[in-house]
Amino acid sequence: MLVSSIGRFGDCPPTDREGFLAVAEALHSYLPWRIIKDGEQLSPVAYHRVPAGVQKHYEEMDSLGQFIAIGDALCIFNPIHAQGMSAAARSRAFVRRVAVRHRSSERGLDR
Ligand SMILES: Cc1cc2nc3c(=O)[nH]c(=O)nc-3n(C[C@H](O)[C@H](O)[C@H](O)COP(=O)(O)OP(=O)(O)OC[C@H]3O[C@@H](n4cnc5c(N)ncnc54)[C@H](O)[C@@H]3O)c2cc1C
Repeated sequence: MLVSSIGRFGDCPPTDREGFLAVAEALHSYLPWRIIKDGEQLSPVAYHRVPAGVQKHYEEMDSLGQFIAIGDALCIFNPIHAQGMSAAARSRAFVRRVAVRHRSSERGLDR
C-alpha cells in the first residue's frame, strides 16, 4: 500500500514517521492513521516538491524531428489533482488513433 500526504501553500507534510503519523491523526477520518500506525513501513518517506504545473511549448520549436512529446514530457499537472497518468494514457491513445489513420495515407506519418 502507498500512502501519500499532500500540502499546499507552504504547508509541507513532515517526512519523518512521527510527523507523518501526526498529520494522519489530525485528519477527520481515523482510518489513514490506523493504517499507517499499524502498518510496516517498507521504505523511507519520499518527498516530491511540485511547485507549479508545467506546459512545454514544443510548438515554438522549428521541429521535433520524428518525435512526439506526450505525458509529462508535454505537460506536468500538479499531483494533487491526480490527472497525470490519465492525461498520459489519453495522449498515447490519441497518438495511436492519428498514427493508424495516417500510416497508409500518401504522406505516411510525416505530417
Ligand atoms: C508524487 C507524485 C504523485 C502523483 N500522483 C498521481 C496520481 O495519484 N494520479 C495520477 O494520475 N498521476 C499522478 N502523478 C503523475 C504521474 O506519475 C505522471 O503524470 C505520469 O507518470 C506521467 O507518465 P509519463 O509516462 O509521461 O512519464 P513517467 O512516468 O515519468 O515515465 C518516464 C520514464 O522515462 C524514463 N526516462 C527518463 N529519461 C530517460 C532516458 N534518457 N532514457 C530512457 N528512459 C528515460 C524514466 O525513468 C521513466 O520511467 C503523480 C506524480 C508525482 C510526482
